Amino acid sequence: MDKTSLFQILNNASGEPIGLKQASADSSTTPEYWRSLDQLADTPEFRQWVEREFPDDAVAVLDGASRRSMLKIMAAAFGLAGLAACRRPELRMAPQARGREDYVPGSPYNYTSAFALGGHAAGLIVQTYEGRPTKIEGNPDHPASLGAATALAQASVLGVYDPDRSKMVLEGGKESSWEKFEAALKSLSLGDGSGLRFLSGTVTSPTLESQRADALKKWPNAKWVEYESIARDNERAGAMMAFGQAVDVHPQFDKAKVILSLDYDFLGNDWPTPLATKLFSKNRHVDSEEDLEKISRLYVVESQFSLTGANAEHRLRMRGGDVQQFAADLSAALNTAPAGNDRRAKFLAAAAKDLKAAGREALVVAGPRQPAVVHALAHQINQTLGAAGSTVIFTKSPTTTGRVESGVDALKTLTGEMSGGQVSTLVILGANPAYTAPADLQFGAALAKVANSIQLGPENDETAAAVKWHVPEAHFLEAWGDARSIDGVVAIQQPMIEPIFEGKSAIEVMALLLDSKDKKGYDLVKNFWTAQSPAATRETAWKKALNDGVVAGTKSAEAKVTVDSKRIQTAPAAPALGLDVGFLPSATTWDGRFANNAWMQEAPDPITKLVWDNVVLVSPAMARERNLKDGDMVALTRGNLKLEAAMMVQPGHAANAVSIALGYGRTRSGTVGTGIGFNAGLIRTSDGFWFSQGFSMAPTGAKHILANTQEHGSMDEPQLVAGIKPNKRPLVREATIEEYKKNAKAIEEQSEIPLLDSIYPQRTWEGLQWGMAIDLGACTGCNACVIACQAENNVPSVGKDQVLRGREMHWIRMDRYYVGPVDDPRAVEQPIPCMQCENAPCENVCPVQATTHSPEGLNDMAYNRCVGTRYCANNCPYKVRHFNFLDWHKNFLERRRIEPELMSMVYNPDVTVRMRGIMEKCTYCVQRIQEARINTKTDGRREFTGQGVVTACQQTCPADAISFGNINDPNSKVAKLKKQERNYAMLAELDVRPRTTYLGRLRNPNPDLEAS
Ligand code: SF4
Repeated sequence: MDKTSLFQILNNASGEPIGLKQASADSSTTPEYWRSLDQLADTPEFRQWVEREFPDDAVAVLDGASRRSMLKIMAAAFGLAGLAACRRPELRMAPQARGREDYVPGSPYNYTSAFALGGHAAGLIVQTYEGRPTKIEGNPDHPASLGAATALAQASVLGVYDPDRSKMVLEGGKESSWEKFEAALKSLSLGDGSGLRFLSGTVTSPTLESQRADALKKWPNAKWVEYESIARDNERAGAMMAFGQAVDVHPQFDKAKVILSLDYDFLGNDWPTPLATKLFSKNRHVDSEEDLEKISRLYVVESQFSLTGANAEHRLRMRGGDVQQFAADLSAALNTAPAGNDRRAKFLAAAAKDLKAAGREALVVAGPRQPAVVHALAHQINQTLGAAGSTVIFTKSPTTTGRVESGVDALKTLTGEMSGGQVSTLVILGANPAYTAPADLQFGAALAKVANSIQLGPENDETAAAVKWHVPEAHFLEAWGDARSIDGVVAIQQPMIEPIFEGKSAIEVMALLLDSKDKKGYDLVKNFWTAQSPAATRETAWKKALNDGVVAGTKSAEAKVTVDSKRIQTAPAAPALGLDVGFLPSATTWDGRFANNAWMQEAPDPITKLVWDNVVLVSPAMARERNLKDGDMVALTRGNLKLEAAMMVQPGHAANAVSIALGYGRTRSGTVGTGIGFNAGLIRTSDGFWFSQGFSMAPTGAKHILANTQEHGSMDEPQLVAGIKPNKRPLVREATIEEYKKNAKAIEEQSEIPLLDSIYPQRTWEGLQWGMAIDLGACTGCNACVIACQAENNVPSVGKDQVLRGREMHWIRMDRYYVGPVDDPRAVEQPIPCMQCENAPCENVCPVQATTHSPEGLNDMAYNRCVGTRYCANNCPYKVRHFNFLDWHKNFLERRRIEPELMSMVYNPDVTVRMRGIMEKCTYCVQRIQEARINTKTDGRREFTGQGVVTACQQTCPADAISFGNINDPNSKVAKLKKQERNYAMLAELDVRPRTTYLGRLRNPNPDLEAS
């Protein structure tokens, strides 16, 4: 890379940030969009991504080491597991000899279940084929899912078939058995429980809660600690501070006209169910003029550029530790106009005025990284505005006994007890504290002092290596359970498959410890819930709960609470000491528990677009000052704490802080996750749990190669007409509401190049014709559609070295553009599937007609005809065709030959598994179209109208941003959307007539700030 030119972008003589507008000689009324600093500098590396299909060094043959690593990835990504495990759960099995009346071999069957993460639970619908789960969707009847599923929830199905999962009981690291473990449990003399401690994540299972109550009754001096590396503890503590009682907080994003987020990435990592995106995006769909008035305005205050920040109208960068003072100033600004004329003061004044004007329709929310006082201040502000009870409601939290404590302080106390020899038996349920505990607690050393340490865990992980007993945990799709969402609604967690590696769930291990009458998960869950219903309706209520995926009558009652201002004590702003380091949940590995999931490792981070790594994110200003470049290794140090990690420049990052995602640098994960990235936990302490001051940062002189996809698929903008320069018609288009009101063609007119006539005669498309519309106003860029497409269409993961060569296989590319100056840009996300062009340029260059048009307007691929010339990919202006350079699936088959019973259990049998030398791309989920067509026929209906066909990306999208259907049916949603003024076709001037079009994003900026 020509770093000189890149640094010209980062610098000017006066040290002022330079944006693209300044970098470009040309000025325009249309905002100009850029993907990367290299694009701004127009480096040769960036030109390669634009002009060539792959960069210069994309070699066709891998070296041995790369090949081996790819094999490992494939093994995990395609699910190698025993055929013997391909069974239904024992209690639901019926002998096939007798058959099941409604069972059709080869047909998918769907079951409800539940997925919990970080104290949030969501209902699922799991698709199974012959007893093996293959696809996860959201349960439309569950209030936290509303039919959508997050990327992490969907990718969790891959974990069922992860060959690296814990497979056996270990005693002191050596193979043992469940029988020996049970005997060891029986021999424990726990007395009154004085030396007994439990450690788990946030418990959302009512059945486990009841067992916990039984355990604390049986052992009256025992204690239970809940600890999550990424949790809702600050939110709960903030509610307690503000209201004096434990309540759960429910922001009603759909009811708010003006929203201000205090470091809350509620559209991204901080809200791990689809609900927040569902609610927020409701007001971002514009179907009529009235809808224009509903578009909310979002202000975000944060350090790292989050997905929520990317969707904000206005974003203010600041260190995580400065947000508290901002919240206090905002509270004051509601009464007295703030002084000052800098950017912060203007932002504060404009936001306060806007919030006041919105009153009951305003909403201030605080994120989980912020301390309790910031949450309490947010409650106070909402109450002052009249928003409490309107845009934010509260429900009473489930009560626990005094011997259940949660959070980092509780873990600190526990670790102290362990170090002090007060803990003789520690039972760890489904957690990996040796990796996730703050570094200063030295959890591993404390664990060594516990005589009987037991861990139930899904992996042979860092904690498994340190405990006396490790027992394998069943995947949630293998075990019965239940999960409560934050509004109290409970879903039964149904298993889809018998535990492949003989794992047990937390409730089954607790049943062993308690020596309960019921030992099986099914009995434990069913008996718990049927006991809550009158005897006469028990069976019906149980069956209804399984069918609906929610247990009736479990929603928490609303709580009426009032803020007690006297309880809110704000600390004076601490002076900045050294560098501020912020810790973030990883969008891909969360807290490390998804580290061995190849789908997630290869899903580009929504903002950084990095895969297979985490990095220290620094602002362009800091990179400029310290002469740092992407991939430079830096050492972050404070006292004894030290972390060496690669750094990357993040436009829009707070200037005097750095951030790093958790969940990487695992030393004992599986073949996919071990040794990937850098363990931020090494410098995370209990007193600097989310952000920590006083660090110094210095380059080590070493380099780390980063696989960043932000320039992959960069599209060329040819100069078709003399005098009109490229980059004048953005691929992604936006307008403000005001611009749109004044001129409904504001989006359409951004295409400045006149349409050209095709040399081919235009065809009339009659009958059923498929098309898609993607609403950029609603899309948040969450990646859920990328993973949905991967799961549905058997899309392989390829590994870091192949991504570096531009060979990732995702059928949906999530392009992220920045707009504005490098130090403080806005961002826009744009999903790019195959455009299914009517005048498809890929088709007329294929020498073997492997890609041709169907009568219904689909750009089909005949895989067995493709000879791999790749002419089609070279001729695709959208760069959405992906070539199988290597035998992603054959390598998997090689493993099958070694272990013949292993099989590709995660595959969707309705979709061909592509081999080496084949071009592939989005098909509009043609298998779903065919399934609907067949169902129409078998149902005896005469005409297939196309109604009810839903693509995988559309089905899972939490923002309902994707519409699909028959564009010739004037009543279909997609046809109506395509008639909207803001509908546009990307690169329309090429006359390829894409069937996938976009609805331009409408923004609602505050005129006071937009002008400043
Ligand atoms: S279109 Fe894709 S990225 Fe956008 S909100 Fe929907 S699922 Fe998320």
